Amino acid sequence: MHYGLAKRVGEGEVEWLRRGFRDEDLTSLGREDVEGVVDAVFVTLGGKDPLSTHISTLCRRLRIPVNVADAPNLCSFTLLSTHTDGPLQVGVTTSGKGCKLASRIRREIAASLPSELGQAVERLGTMRRRIWEEDHAAELAMDLDAEEEDAGQSAAFNKLVTPEDAEAARGRRMRWLAQICEYWPLRRLAGITDEDVSAVLRSYTASERSGLDPAAVDMRHRRGRIILAGSGPGNPDLLTRATHKAILAADLILADKLVPAPVLDLIPRRTAVYIARKFPGNAEKAQEELLQMGLEGLRAGKTVVRLKQGDPYIYGRGAEEFDFFRAQGYAPVVLPGITSALSAPLFAGIPATHRSVADQVLVCTGTGRAGAAPDPPQYRAASTVVFLMGLHRLADLVGSLTAAKAAWPVDTPCAIVERASCPDQRVVRTTLEYVCAAFEEEGSRPPGLLVVGKACEVLWSAGGQKWVVEDGFKGLDGLGVEGDLGLLQEAEGPVTATA
Ligand code: SAH
Repeated sequence: MHYGLAKRVGEGEVEWLRRGFRDEDLTSLGREDVEGVVDAVFVTLGGKDPLSTHISTLCRRLRIPVNVADAPNLCSFTLLSTHTDGPLQVGVTTSGKGCKLASRIRREIAASLPSELGQAVERLGTMRRRIWEEDHAAELAMDLDAEEEDAGQSAAFNKLVTPEDAEAARGRRMRWLAQICEYWPLRRLAGITDEDVSAVLRSYTASERSGLDPAAVDMRHRRGRIILAGSGPGNPDLLTRATHKAILAADLILADKLVPAPVLDLIPRRTAVYIARKFPGNAEKAQEELLQMGLEGLRAGKTVVRLKQGDPYIYGRGAEEFDFFRAQGYAPVVLPGITSALSAPLFAGIPATHRSVADQVLVCTGTGRAGAAPDPPQYRAASTVVFLMGLHRLADLVGSLTAAKAAWPVDTPCAIVERASCPDQRVVRTTLEYVCAAFEEEGSRPPGLLVVGKACEVLWSAGGQKWVVEDGFKGLDGLGVEGDLGLLQEAEGPVTATA
């Protein structure tokens, strides 16, 4: 006998009848007020014993709940493995498939819940009851007033609200409660204080609108924080988990205009998003606007995520933004992103380094400060050079590279990689000699970059043509659950060839 049961028997709490089962036990051993019919039956004999089947059948006929150990087909109910924390109860059943497993799942669920959740449930319950009682009392008072009026007496002078107002306030308070139960992170809910509760109740009786927003009450407890996060080259699958988490945790997201729609699509609907209004001639103003919005958010206690394309510290003014917020007392957490400088070549089939071909990678800007032309890097046969922000002045860039001073040979392989990792990715493989003609003829598809060096023809080449164009992105095919693992099929040639 289970020691718990033995203990109860010992203490006289449970009566142990030391004899065999009799059919009439089911209708005679129960409580008096139900004329002796028993409340429930547990059979520990197991499913193989014919007596178990017999008892189970009898119980079902009498509508008595019955449970036979290890025989789900003989049970009319199964036991829950339960987790109890004050008024909160979580029950798990595997419908008789395995009680050990149920207990394991119950433990995992319980471990994932915040520790004070039971208390929070108690508090929220109290709050709900108070709202209900106050509303109910108000309703009764209103009915009394109405009766007095009907009886020809003067209306009570302190009747401040009309039934419509009261109705609306009532709806609002309950909705507020529903909102916080729905939207507050569980951990925050678990930490709800009496003060929170009275703040909510007060704000409604005084009908102060400021208190109506659950987020606003939440904010009072928080200090603003800012995360400067890289969002990768464009494909949402290239976000880091850290950036994704930051996106989900944000109250306000300030994004670069380069952050593409599929990444923005990951932002929860409730989160405010602002996209920089950067266009030629407005860059400084747009940047200033963005920083100010960030600051306002921080002062209001929000979690602000500054979402930047690629890696935040590669040509993204990331460090300037870090400095700005730090000077205001909010040093950002900085999360790296996959930079286009290294991933665009990769998705174009260009290994940025390769034994015996390229032993270094140089990442440059094609545009200097205030639009000035930057110094081109010197020719070095074993270097791969990646130029960001250079395609709009490609002719000047290539001109300066091939001029006597920098001395890059015109037959150096190069590639234009545009919208890397996006569905409309495009790669133009060519040489410094033809790259300008190719770009002119094919047109541009920003954002894009230029890769220069022997590495450009290690895996793919223009096959003796002046240039070839490859359209479309397949780099992550075969990773998803929906696609087949067609990894072996990737060794295909260029999609289209021209010139
Ligand atoms: N911080 C970013 C770069 C910002 S500068 C990063 O780490 O990727 C912006 C330049 O990045 C663009 O002018 C372009 O040259 C390059 N770029 C950004 N995304 C790109 C993409 N998906 N494909 C090709 N080039 C890209």
